Amino acid sequence: MNSKSSYFEYIKDWIRPLQKSLTLESEYEFKNILGREKFFNEYLFESLEKLDHLKLNDNYIDKFSYFCNKYKDYANLDLNQRKRLVIDTRKLLFKLGNSVESKQNKNSSNFYEEKLEINSLKLYSKLSEIKGIGKIYQENLNKLGLFNIKDLISYFPRTYLDYSNREKIVNLRPEYTYTCTGNIKKFYMYKSKNKSYLSIMNITLFDESGSIRITKFFIGKRFSSYTFFTSQKNKFKVGIKLAVSGKVKLTDFGRSFVDPQIEILNDNDNNLNFSGKILPIYSLADSISNINYIKIMKRILFCAKDIPDILNSRQIKSLGLFSVKEALINIHLPKNQNSLDESKRRLLFDELLLLQIKFLIKKNDRKSIVLNEKVNKNKSYLKQFLSNIPFCLTNSQIKVLDEIKNDLQGSNPMSRLLQGDVGSGKTIVAIASLLYIVENGYQGALMVPTEVLAVQHYQNLIKNLTPLLISVELLTGNTTQKKRRKILTDLSNGHINILVGTHALFEDKVIFDSLGLVVIDEQHRFGVGQRNRLLRKGDNTHLLSMTATPIPRTLALSIYGDLDVSQIDELPPGRVPVKTKIIEENNLTQLFKIVEKEIKKGKQAYVILPLIEESEKLNLNSVNNIYEYLSEEIFNKFKIGILHGKLNSEEKNKVIDLFVKNEIDILISTTVIEVGIDVPNASIMIIYNAERFGLSQLHQLRGRVGRDSYESYCYLVTSENNLLTNKRLQVMQKSNDGFYIAEKDLELRGPGQILGYKQSGLPDFVLDNLPKNKILIEKAREEAKNILLKDPLLDSNLILKRILYDKENNKFVHDFLN
Ligand code: ADP
Ligand code: MG
Repeated sequence: MNSKSSYFEYIKDWIRPLQKSLTLESEYEFKNILGREKFFNEYLFESLEKLDHLKLNDNYIDKFSYFCNKYKDYANLDLNQRKRLVIDTRKLLFKLGNSVESKQNKNSSNFYEEKLEINSLKLYSKLSEIKGIGKIYQENLNKLGLFNIKDLISYFPRTYLDYSNREKIVNLRPEYTYTCTGNIKKFYMYKSKNKSYLSIMNITLFDESGSIRITKFFIGKRFSSYTFFTSQKNKFKVGIKLAVSGKVKLTDFGRSFVDPQIEILNDNDNNLNFSGKILPIYSLADSISNINYIKIMKRILFCAKDIPDILNSRQIKSLGLFSVKEALINIHLPKNQNSLDESKRRLLFDELLLLQIKFLIKKNDRKSIVLNEKVNKNKSYLKQFLSNIPFCLTNSQIKVLDEIKNDLQGSNPMSRLLQGDVGSGKTIVAIASLLYIVENGYQGALMVPTEVLAVQHYQNLIKNLTPLLISVELLTGNTTQKKRRKILTDLSNGHINILVGTHALFEDKVIFDSLGLVVIDEQHRFGVGQRNRLLRKGDNTHLLSMTATPIPRTLALSIYGDLDVSQIDELPPGRVPVKTKIIEENNLTQLFKIVEKEIKKGKQAYVILPLIEESEKLNLNSVNNIYEYLSEEIFNKFKIGILHGKLNSEEKNKVIDLFVKNEIDILISTTVIEVGIDVPNASIMIIYNAERFGLSQLHQLRGRVGRDSYESYCYLVTSENNLLTNKRLQVMQKSNDGFYIAEKDLELRGPGQILGYKQSGLPDFVLDNLPKNKILIEKAREEAKNILLKDPLLDSNLILKRILYDKENNKFVHDFLN
């Protein structure tokens, strides 16, 4: 049956492009259109000239030959004659297609069985009811969390192999991407000699035209075990047939596929008989073959029609989207690349729409606490504080503070994101907001991602607030038990006004008397869940989130659609932009001289490294290495301190304290200083292995200097000399604008990476697709508004309502259409 059915597919494949060109020709009024390479009539002539390969019966052959001759002379025919010829050809092809179709159906031995099965299968039918799924198979699918048909439909392919660019091995050209099939001639796997964590697999693949090498790298200890090697050897036995897809590269061993997609094919999969040219690849256990799984998908996919669509047909039409049924069918068995893209677009739209609806509902939903009368009518803490600081607020700071005060008095609780570039002075705004809530009878909390930063904020607050008789405490993972107990008691009876701390703040035991405002600094370091746990410690608590990684509007909409955004868009006056230079690692003498000069003037320097200790695996500089080198050979006259995550909190605080007091000249550190550290006297920032860091991170690091009106420098030290690295680092050299840098970072690395927003709860495929889909995001936002405007309680959108109720957490939408 297999070879017959592939013969039928072969004929259909021959018919399709002909039909397409005939349709086009009639659409263009029989002008003999010019295709990519030839004129319409040449193409038809050549296609109809040799028909032997089709093994058609004589009747067809005669007719096609007759047409063939006419196409030779097409240019000389008049319009009517051309029209006649095209129509007749189309008719004949149509007839041929139909007869193939009906033979194919008759030939399918289990045609009737399938019919029966189709009638009885439902969306919630168990796997055991599907023909072709035995007990073991079923158990293996269960392990993947798949129990019924709906589960299968919601389990999307991991990737796709594009068989439209299938080639014989002899034709593969370097630097192009192909899929080819062949058999294994040789298999060889070994451990790398100089990198113990690296294992390498080499396969030689051959087909009737030639052979090619496939190389796959495995990084990690578990891949170097004997068991793993044996398992691979058994998997890729000599003779087995593979489909390989990827880019061909020219290596020392000739043309090779390096780290391609590899699929094991069964013998009878010879002519891959899937509906389109794009083969879905699923993440399945080794025991389940992909091709087999696709066969099952083909049988059950019709059930997709029973999955409810959250859009009605009018919406689908006006938004120009696939129906959910079409989308689900094509995500599994794409007709072509375009229908696959459209499917993804539709599924992405659903995610975005639900997200936006959720945001909007949440925004409309929360009711505010009513601020108490001022506790102390004669004194305004806020005013006093502002008159005590040694500078005036910038206009931006004043504007943002007004927006915040406005929110705090309003009838909805504040949900505000404060964006402001590194060094723009967000801390003052945070303190002022906390004071305002305290002055109105509530407690405030300030949560930050690292202990070092928490301590710094705490000291800042103490300095500023103790004169006002406001009590501030610090709670971190390192707070002693005794101290902790006292803090928790004082907090719950209202003796503490402001609590500063790290993740320790949202633990269950922390109970506030009357929490009015939560401020989160460097908020992208926290997950939405963590933020909400802290917020729930009060009734309708106000929220101020702060970030120095400004994000483009589309991203903000999709990630923080429930937040209002404020922006500090100027730096305090007198700031001189940090001068940034890229320098080669073996060329640092000049740099060390500059550092020496600066330190002699009383300034200080940071030296940042990617690692604490040397590592065998990575050829990178480390804190300990560079400390040894600088303290012994270069700067033996200066005081040098080290800071990293492995020090205990006492040691850390001591080092920072010494640095703040300028009793340390050079601080050698990992990126623990990245967030928030504020030592305005430091004027030099040296970052080793700068190529290892993301742009936004480099910008944050650089933001540790240039914090007063003194000229500051940032040196990006690198030993890598490749194009991409240079391009990235040059962005830093060119710009001091965090917004611009974040956009570039987004382009180069994708949003999941920069923002660390895995915690946002958005599925990967949504995140990865955000930059490309700005318009879709806006559309989803608009549609969400429309829907809620007409139907605020979603009473006539029951499917939507159910989905939103069922799942508080973001999960893939079509996962929870239960
Ligand atoms: P970030 O926005 O990166 O958190 P900080 O709040 O740490 O920035 O402020 C950076 C530095 O600028 C601090 O030393 C702070 O005291 C100072 N600063 C903040 N606002 C002003 C201002 N209006 N005028 C002068 N200096 C300011
Ligand atoms: Mg800060």
